[in-house]
Amino acid sequence: MTTIWYNPICLQHRGEDPRFECPERLEAIISHLEASSLIKKCVVRAGHAATDDDILLCHSSEHLSRINSHQFSKDAPQFEYINRVNPVEATKEQLSKDSTYISQHSMEASRVSIGSCLEGVDMVLHGLRDGNSPNGFVLCRPPGHHSETNSAQGFCLFNNIAIAAQYAVNQLKQLFPDNPLKHRVLVFDWDVHHGNGTEEIFYHSPEVCYVSTHLFGDKRFYPYTGAIESIGSDIGRGYNVNIPFQTVNVGDSDFLRVIDEIIVPIANEFAPSVVLVSAGFDIMEGDSVGRLLVSPKGLHAMTSRLLTGIPCIQGRLLCVLEGGYSHNILAEGVCGVLQALLGDPFVPYDVLVNPDEEQVDLDDSLIGINPNVAKRVRASVDETIQKVKTHLSPYWSCFRDK
Ligand SMILES: [Zn+2]
Repeated sequence: MTTIWYNPICLQHRGEDPRFECPERLEAIISHLEASSLIKKCVVRAGHAATDDDILLCHSSEHLSRINSHQFSKDAPQFEYINRVNPVEATKEQLSKDSTYISQHSMEASRVSIGSCLEGVDMVLHGLRDGNSPNGFVLCRPPGHHSETNSAQGFCLFNNIAIAAQYAVNQLKQLFPDNPLKHRVLVFDWDVHHGNGTEEIFYHSPEVCYVSTHLFGDKRFYPYTGAIESIGSDIGRGYNVNIPFQTVNVGDSDFLRVIDEIIVPIANEFAPSVVLVSAGFDIMEGDSVGRLLVSPKGLHAMTSRLLTGIPCIQGRLLCVLEGGYSHNILAEGVCGVLQALLGDPFVPYDVLVNPDEEQVDLDDSLIGINPNVAKRVRASVDETIQKVKTHLSPYWSCFRDK
């Protein structure tokens, strides 16, 4: 059973620039799911509003009240930018890249986004009790993975997936009070940007293992964090896994190698009770922000690999929407992920809406790429995989020579 969460209140979080994080993203996803009839195959829920206590699972009370108490007068613009960077010290570039906005209905949209994630956790954990393996996709906004304990940034006000992960750990402690090995949650963040917020929140935790793939290029890509060397601290050492891509044009086969060689081995050793995915679609070919080459078919394969490659979760997987800024491309990517969650084979969106159309099986993302460029990308990703393994081998036996 696959459940999706969608609530129109999430369209009411709105700034002035429609190029980036805007309601049209979610509208495109829903219209694609309706046109393709994929929505009919899912249970659709509206989610509930999270409480202050839910938000405080991962955020400071100062941060909550800063966002919660924001007032808009009738005469003023109905949104404001709230930058983490000091506007006096920040460069113009920093300001333009870190313009996170809050609007009149942002708090309501945030509460429903978080509440939907918590319902998603309850849904997969319920499956844990009765032996089913339900999965789901929370189609929410604002996104969350850049928001730290005490900050809003990168379009993110609160860290939806981090709150979901902490809530899941707490629920698992109640379900299995005598078995700490069952209190584990793995977060895989495949957004093109590093989830600095999720990393910061769980940096000292051995209960939530955070694994992120992201464009890095020696700290030249927002949010300039996510180095291999950032592996967690104290009892959380080894449970923060960064897989930073040094080059653009990373595609389907590269992601699948990373999943097979790093994520699946770590997940099987860690043995989480559930996997949460920070699902960003700015890794897709044609996205206006990311510069990678993942296709809808690749996203289907990545999701399927997580569902089948980590037997201990028995299919308990919850995706949470993060980035993705080219609306139709984003929506087609969500269709790919959803088909995998439903257990359906991949069918391109064009064929779903027009079954008479001839299906051309394109060989993933390397179409149109100069073979020499593809070779260089592959070599660079392989080098990153080896470095990650070497760096983490003291903490993960799967990376030690047998
Ligand atoms: Zn992103």
